[in-house]
Amino acid sequence: MKLIFATHNQHKVKELKKLVPPSISILSLTDIKCYQEIEETGTTLEENAKIKATFIKYKYGLDCFADDSGLEIEALNGAPGVYSARYAGAAKNNEDNIKKVWEELNDKTNTKAQFRTVIAASFGKKIELFEGIVKGHIIFEKRGKGGFGYDPIFIPKGYDKTFAQLGDIVKNNISHRAIATQYFLNKLNKLKKT
Ligand code: IMP
Repeated sequence: MKLIFATHNQHKVKELKKLVPPSISILSLTDIKCYQEIEETGTTLEENAKIKATFIKYKYGLDCFADDSGLEIEALNGAPGVYSARYAGAAKNNEDNIKKVWEELNDKTNTKAQFRTVIAASFGKKIELFEGIVKGHIIFEKRGKGGFGYDPIFIPKGYDKTFAQLGDIVKNNISHRAIATQYFLNKLNKLKKT
């Protein structure tokens, strides 16, 4: 079975390839030479994941999946959410995004937040969604050097270190992306057996 992962991010592709059974071959957008930009015009993670998965399905007629993730802060009504990468502007600068979170949360006492991933998978004529959530809270200083994005200011529930301090091995076990991926893999394993 051949599946396209609608991303050029080789880090994500490599990580997923390690998890899927050998009978499923994963190809990235780079592998199929799709360099056209897929505009993420959705207003939710679900919409953006679906936009990417259906674009490839219609253009190439191949089964495909795509993911979209974001940080959702309770006191900010779920912001930055789908706009996480460009919260402080089109430059997609992590430092500025973190500063903006702190500014927006300045007068709030509720620091609860969650990371959420949605995977949209287009199998045949159907499109299915898989969700992963990791709950936690925001802190007002940066701790740790690992990870990316908002990792240095996010402490997952049940831990006393940020994602940036916990390191890849722990993070890849408990993260929003890991959970959504696991649901997706369960589905792939079922499909393989039918
Ligand atoms: P993407 O959909 O995986 O590209 O994620 C969109 C944006 O959400 C990223 O650019 C980050 O700002 C934020 N984000 C998503 N996942 C994580 C994470 O695991 N740690 C920190 N930030 C994340």
